[in-house]
Amino acid sequence: MRHMAPSRTLAAALAILGVLAPRAAEAYCRASTCEPSGTRCTPEQAEDCGVAIKWTRPCVGISVQKDASKKISLYDARTALHRAFVSWQEAKCDGGGAPGVSVQDLGAVECDQVEYNGKAGNANVVVFRDTKWPHPSGPHNIALTTVTYDTKSGEIFDADMEINVAQYQLTMEDATADYDLQSVFTHEAGHFLGLAHSPDSSATMFAVYTPGSTAFRSLAADDVAGVCAVYPAQTIDPAKCNVLPRHGFSPACAEKQTEGSCALRGPATRDGAVGIVALGLAVFALRRRRRGA
Ligand SMILES: [Zn+2]
Repeated sequence: MRHMAPSRTLAAALAILGVLAPRAAEAYCRASTCEPSGTRCTPEQAEDCGVAIKWTRPCVGISVQKDASKKISLYDARTALHRAFVSWQEAKCDGGGAPGVSVQDLGAVECDQVEYNGKAGNANVVVFRDTKWPHPSGPHNIALTTVTYDTKSGEIFDADMEINVAQYQLTMEDATADYDLQSVFTHEAGHFLGLAHSPDSSATMFAVYTPGSTAFRSLAADDVAGVCAVYPAQTIDPAKCNVLPRHGFSPACAEKQTEGSCALRGPATRDGAVGIVALGLAVFALRRRRRGA
């Protein structure tokens, strides 16, 4: 059989089917191994560098720290977090399938540290910072997700979210004048999955949150294109998934893990060099309020 370029007729047929149709806006950026906060964007950007990061297994566990917040109950936190990940997992990729990633709540954990342990059990944690926001480099961030990855392959090993309840009033209500927890979680869930900020102000992955808005709860076309590119559509049976993190799951931080504790050990795996990227979420109004202060 002769090889030939696709005919015009074929191209026209595909265009009618939407396959070659120009897309409105599918701009998204993935976090990459280029430190300190590299990206790989679509369309490509001049500053793109490194390997885009991603979870390499379809199933990933997450846990809210058991004390949650004085202002947000554990139940509310888990509910909002669940809804946030459902938004990503129920995105409709081209062809109708859902992204090939499943993030499962493994129950509350004791560990309140952002850490990845190369020699002890791990947990991907969600921690509320009630009294002090411990990030001088992003003093007014409403939230921060810290992702640890393999610097060579870009495989994500661990991701932890912190929520700044010390400075912001996060709420569960649909109509709110404050800061919508589910919106903030949905944005941070994007970072958890390996996405960086989107230049599109209508995207959930836009770097700045507008107080009172619940718009980040639902994904924009850019966000959907991003998650589907990282995790091509695939059917996942959550019951058959391995959600154990590298070096096993441990609800306790490394310093409290002792031999014979109940940490579920996974197979021994040696890590290569690990890198860390921390992505925050800024707030529009605070800047205004602080002007001249
Ligand atoms: Zn962000």
